Amino acid sequence: MVTAVALRLAAQRQEVNELLAPLRLTLPDLEKVQALMRQEMERGLGKATHANASVRMLPSYVCNTPDGTERGDFLALDLGGTNFRVLLVRVTEEGISMASEIYVIPPPIMQGTGENMMLQMLPLGFTFSFPCQQVGLDKALLLTWTKGFSASDCVGKDVVLLLRQAAERKQHTALKVVALVNDTVGTMMSCGYDDPKCEIGLIVGTGTNACYMEEMKNVGTVEGDQGRMCINMEWGAFGDNGCLDHIFTQFDKLVDESTINPGKQRFEKLVSGMYLGEIVRQILLEMTQRQLLFQGRHCTTLQTKNIFQTKFLSTIELSNGLALRQIRAILQELELDASFEDSVLMREVCQAVSLRAAQLCAAGLAAVVEKMRENRGLDTMSVSVGVDGTLYKLHPCFSQNLQKTLKELAPNCNVTFLLSEDGSGKGAALVAAVATRAGL
Ligand code: BGC
Ligand code: MG
Repeated sequence: MVTAVALRLAAQRQEVNELLAPLRLTLPDLEKVQALMRQEMERGLGKATHANASVRMLPSYVCNTPDGTERGDFLALDLGGTNFRVLLVRVTEEGISMASEIYVIPPPIMQGTGENMMLQMLPLGFTFSFPCQQVGLDKALLLTWTKGFSASDCVGKDVVLLLRQAAERKQHTALKVVALVNDTVGTMMSCGYDDPKCEIGLIVGTGTNACYMEEMKNVGTVEGDQGRMCINMEWGAFGDNGCLDHIFTQFDKLVDESTINPGKQRFEKLVSGMYLGEIVRQILLEMTQRQLLFQGRHCTTLQTKNIFQTKFLSTIELSNGLALRQIRAILQELELDASFEDSVLMREVCQAVSLRAAQLCAAGLAAVVEKMRENRGLDTMSVSVGVDGTLYKLHPCFSQNLQKTLKELAPNCNVTFLLSEDGSGKGAALVAAVATRAGL
């Protein structure tokens, strides 16, 4: 009897290991991802290769990080993954402050928001967290929506013009839209205000992306060889040309197929908060079917799309042995009747999925810092990364795993991570400030 149970458990363990094995990446696997990212970066920057690169390496027309002399009052709009916000940002000698509350407003109520700011002409920076082909600071064609957005009649249009027209319709005549920035760029700029070494921006939230300061002479898609320009990588689309097919698991494919943009943003769908819960759910479904979970009991909850939010991954991974009881309480709320063993197994699944996300993010970042180090002809380089996004900020192990893997993949780079506080707003204001100062 005892041996029968032991044998069954051993067989189950082996089946679990086999199911999760494709998610567990080795150092050589990650080095390969890093090399592929580097290759796609070069292709994205090259004039002749740009059109077919999966990593688009979009010029931002931001050529300087802040130098501390920026001053003034600015409006910032932030259209990101989950929120739409309006901010009044004051940049003074003492630093940056938000002179008003941050509004979380549904678009229909937008009309009234600027009223008390209408007395003077305010330069406005627009943080727009989607891929845009920029031809200047204030001209940006939307290439595609990501992260579940699909609003019609926007792709191919100049988003700055759309904003100006909307402002006109609402008679917000005192607005002067001077710059559009990606959230990665805003994040880099906001952290750059306090740390001049901050030359990279990273977002790991609903979506994921990075930007960094590239040498103009390497940017084949913009005229000129002098100085640097911040490049919005749009690394979420890494792999859309098939170069990452070897690491996609059956679960990743199922998740991709159920999105509104199948085949697109493939790297993002392995890394960012919008998708991790879905990957976990697909694995749990398979485990249930194989009788490895819930004693094989059919469970309708698991069939519900987006039932596991990233929050759930955070909580479940935070729990040590004792708190596993808490997990069971959470699961019961979801009408999942999990045994102790079920809870332990679910935690293992969450860990595997979030660890892989952090490691892949590290591989991408390693490609960036190594390129910057080579650009500058340095044996070793110190650089800071401004970071924002709920997954990075709230998950108990993500940032640790990311930093540990980055050290292994880019040992000659000393990378400091700076948490951005409202980087989208501050950063957009700073870009607007720099633009205003330059008399643009
Ligand atoms: C968008 C990027 C953005 C990132 C993080 C991605 O889906 O394409 O422009 O920076 O999400 O918000
Ligand atoms: Mg955002």
